[in-house]
Amino acid sequence: KELVITIDGPSGAGKTTVSKTLAARIGYRYIDTGALYRGIAFETQQRGIAADDEAGIESACQAIDLRFRLEGGDLRLFSGDRDISDMIRTPEISMRASAVSALAPVRSFLTVLQRRLGEERAVVFEGRDMGTVVFPEADVKFFLDADSDIRAQRRYEELKAKGEAVDFEQVKRDLVTRDLNDSSRKIAPLKPADDAVHVDASRIGVEEVVETMAKVVAS
Ligand code: C5P
Repeated sequence: KELVITIDGPSGAGKTTVSKTLAARIGYRYIDTGALYRGIAFETQQRGIAADDEAGIESACQAIDLRFRLEGGDLRLFSGDRDISDMIRTPEISMRASAVSALAPVRSFLTVLQRRLGEERAVVFEGRDMGTVVFPEADVKFFLDADSDIRAQRRYEELKAKGEAVDFEQVKRDLVTRDLNDSSRKIAPLKPADDAVHVDASRIGVEEVVETMAKVVAS
């Protein structure tokens, strides 16, 4: 049977690597829904719309054409014909994505898009509300977490590897702020689904996390 698998959790828990690895291992597609929120954040910023201008962002959503394309095994995000995959990975866009993701029209717009992407099944969705809101009927749900110091460390290394000038304390503050925004917003707050399998990645590596998940999926 072709399943819909969801992996939710806070920033920096390793969702992206784990989701990609799990999907590759079982021959499923992988969808990074955070990239869509980042895409809306980026495109509305380009259009000069304030992050709290709900009406402006709502009407912009209708004109924004986000789509994923698989290029050499890499999932790229396009806005129209433009590959925006790298542009959406800055600390500034991270914070703006967290802000726009609290707006009802953005969430309903992207929920519809995500459900459409799930129609073919055999897919791993990574996000914050995949198991709670977008796919409440998903076959297997995971909630991936890790201690905030470990998550901040991971984000810091990622940004440093990309050559960004970053400060650990700043990265940690941003991450904690973003988690707080994400878990305290009124619509679709970040929280585990009642039937999610919890995995703590604080003390185990990607391989072990994926191994654990693959066993759950197979059972
Ligand atoms: O996962 P990533 O860090 O790329 O997500 C960026 C932001 O998008 C998150 O901080 C969160 O505010 C938002 N998001 C969301 N729901 C999702 C995925 C991401 O609200 N399913």
